[in-house]
Amino acid sequence: MVAGRQRLLTGYPPPVATKRSTERVPERIRRLGRIHHVAVIVETMEPAIQFWRDTLGLELDVVEDMAVDRVRIAFLPVGESKIELVEPTDQTTGVARFLAKNGEGFHHVCFEVDNIVETLMRLEFDGVELIDTAPRKGAEGPVAFIHPRSCHGVLVELIEAPGGPAWAALGY
Ligand code: ZN
Repeated sequence: MVAGRQRLLTGYPPPVATKRSTERVPERIRRLGRIHHVAVIVETMEPAIQFWRDTLGLELDVVEDMAVDRVRIAFLPVGESKIELVEPTDQTTGVARFLAKNGEGFHHVCFEVDNIVETLMRLEFDGVELIDTAPRKGAEGPVAFIHPRSCHGVLVELIEAPGGPAWAALGY
């Protein structure tokens, strides 16, 4: 299968120098930080926790009701990141519809950034489709989502690192 693989690579467009706005903005706005968490949607929290904590051996950090978003979430730290379990508590939310359509599984990946407002402005300037054009209050800090249409099918979330300007602005 090596020949096939080589053909595939040969046919891949080579990197070209582009003049995107990202080249003119500071490194801290251009680059994403660590993966803050990977979120999976679950039918029911308890059996999911049994798997991630008891079978895989992750520590359970917190289980929390997010009344505004009508979900229950749990965070299980692993390395410098976390697994986030998301259980819909209301059948009318987007998360509930996702579960009904796709079943349990991967939902989104969240990257930490230093300044979420600056990052959103930069992405919007580059033509990236944002779900949230301004940060909103998440369980672990100011967050915003980027549309999967702009991310090759992956729902991407951004979260501002603790102490960033959006924390005070949102009243944490
Ligand atoms: Zn998330």
